[in-house]
Amino acid sequence: MVQDKTEFKKNQDEIQYLAYYDLLTNMPNRRLMMDRLEQTLNSSRRSRSYAAVFFLDLDHFKNLNDTQGHAAGDLLLQEVAKRLKKVVREKDTVSRFGGDEFALILQDFGESKTQAIDSCRLVSAKIFNAMKVPFVLYDNEHNTSVSMGVCLFVGKDLTCNEILRRADIAMYQAKQAGRNGMEFFDEKLQPKLEYRAALAIDMQSATIGNELIPYYQAQVNQNNEVIGAELLLRWLHPRLGMISPAEFIPIAEESNLINSISYFVLQLACAQLRAWQEEESTKEMRLSINISARHFGQTDFVDQIASTLQEYNCPPELLRLELTESLMLKSPDDIAEKMYLLKETGVTLSLDDFGTGYSSLSVLRRFPLDELKIDRSFVQNMLNNKDDAIIIETIIVMANKLGLEVIAEGIETEEQKNFLHKSGCQNQQGFLFSRPSPIEEFEEHLKTLQRSPSVEV
Ligand code: C2E
Ligand code: MG
Ligand code: MG
Repeated sequence: MVQDKTEFKKNQDEIQYLAYYDLLTNMPNRRLMMDRLEQTLNSSRRSRSYAAVFFLDLDHFKNLNDTQGHAAGDLLLQEVAKRLKKVVREKDTVSRFGGDEFALILQDFGESKTQAIDSCRLVSAKIFNAMKVPFVLYDNEHNTSVSMGVCLFVGKDLTCNEILRRADIAMYQAKQAGRNGMEFFDEKLQPKLEYRAALAIDMQSATIGNELIPYYQAQVNQNNEVIGAELLLRWLHPRLGMISPAEFIPIAEESNLINSISYFVLQLACAQLRAWQEEESTKEMRLSINISARHFGQTDFVDQIASTLQEYNCPPELLRLELTESLMLKSPDDIAEKMYLLKETGVTLSLDDFGTGYSSLSVLRRFPLDELKIDRSFVQNMLNNKDDAIIIETIIVMANKLGLEVIAEGIETEEQKNFLHKSGCQNQQGFLFSRPSPIEEFEEHLKTLQRSPSVEV
């Protein structure tokens, strides 16, 4: 009996533990953290003393997991947990929120807001210092940094969920600001967030084909001949006017909307390529579309491409998929495999915004790419920034050696065009040649471009 009872007690303790603690770090989990936050909120309401939630996210944690394996990732999380515990006081809570996210609850900052802010800054400085020392993971030294968001509260109007949401938003701001930093939640951001949320709702009903419109921008070779186009989406919002994809695609990516939008773009592109097949002058034009990471990650992505090409009876070699470097960081082996499968459908692959990410030569060798697209930030600066000019020249030489085509985007002036020609970059895209425009305008413009005399190189 006695043994049974102790056994029972032990089991119960274990169940308790499992429910409230994270096994990897032996820290409170999200659930216990929420309990404690509720308590903190109540006591802060009574004492009028400020408290704060710190939301932490490790920067580029996925890279470590992908390159050195999950065991190394787990070890890092454990070490980070230990260091965080050392930084805070006994009564504070350090919890693992999930994945590479940690949440801290700090209390008793006193009744002065300015002092509370100073205290938060002090704690965050301690955390940054603690993270600066390299971590030793199975004989390898590893450097990591964290991005932090802080929500300060004094137990009044906010709920636990709202506090967490604000800390999370502030953390996101810290990431946006270049990582390895700390941001306080800023009330002034609220309207911007509400605008985003409203757009997300409007997008649900933005009828594809009605409000979402394809624009086309020409790509030309050294003789000013149009060799193809890039399809760039526009949202013609009934009240707000034209909204740039740079604004609405990231919002769509946060929901499943991106998948239906992407499929729509794919169908449009195939239909357009089919139409161009009917005319002698446009028969050889290729069309590039931008592929979002979420779309690429769909399990049936390759099948979808293959079947849509077939459905529209569209020559696959004229469809070019623009991928971004960020997409290739996650599990490169799987990505490479998918890219090889894609190539079997006959499409060609371009690496968009090249130079802005992390790509190295080894990355390039690993993937079956056909083209590098030099990001327009380099083009914009290359004439007054020597480094950017050198980077461009190097990219072009490198691409040529690897047998890749190169195209530069964002060409606005003759000088830029000439510099790129001299550096060996023949294919170009930019306002100098054509602004993105609806199909009728684009095709009208095509005629003038095709009629214009060849330029000297
Ligand atoms: P991106 O693929 O790098 O597209 C090039 C961007 O540069 C376009 O902005 C284009 O209008 C702009 N651009 C072209 N020439 C010039 C120039 O000479 N000067 C300047 N200042 N800008 C130039 P846009 O159309 O606003 O698109 C922004 C980004 O949105 C695109 O960047 C692409 O990443 C994304 N995007 C656009 N359409 C789609 C889409 O259908 N699906 C997905 N997933 N993303 C899309
Ligand atoms: Mg693009
Ligand atoms: Mg680009």
